[in-house]
Amino acid sequence: MEQRFKSLSLFEFQSRYPNDESCVKYLAQLKWSGGYHCKKCGNGHYCKGNSAEDRQCTRCRYIESAKSRTMFQGCKFPILKAFYIVYYVSTSKNGISSTELSRKLGLRQKTCWLFKQKVMRAMKSSGNFPMDGKVDVDETYVGGQDDQSIGRNEGRKKIVVVSIEKQGVKVCPECMHGLSKPQARRTY
Ligand SMILES: [Zn+2]
Repeated sequence: MEQRFKSLSLFEFQSRYPNDESCVKYLAQLKWSGGYHCKKCGNGHYCKGNSAEDRQCTRCRYIESAKSRTMFQGCKFPILKAFYIVYYVSTSKNGISSTELSRKLGLRQKTCWLFKQKVMRAMKSSGNFPMDGKVDVDETYVGGQDDQSIGRNEGRKKIVVVSIEKQGVKVCPECMHGLSKPQARRTY
């Protein structure tokens, strides 16, 4: 992953993520980069679900979307805009206000504020916060989310954030541990 991802300028970011589909596709890549395992039964085989990036367990038929169990789950606005929030929050050296995000993205200020909190929690739990100015949009951040907002009965949520600090630790989307560390381990 470290090799695949280069530091991205805003222009490169825009080219790489032109629409929601490209974001979901990328999220799916990250989410299952360590292999697919059914959340319900642990089966390692899947077929395509209803949407392009959904995966359906071949044993119990459970369908999981790319967004499920990530910080993008339950997002009521386009994932592309959520990606932009992640980008702006993680690349702004002195932070970016939710009012500014609202202006840039055409979302309500409160919506931006709420999502920004998710991003910052994920960044914080990844141990790479605060950011400095050099950001690589393609690293992955994963953190536990202890709030009540999404899903049911899943306990501690995994959060996948896309974007991060160039010199930061690359974090496995599944286990929250740095890929650059030799002893990266799974937490579930
Ligand atoms: Zn299953």
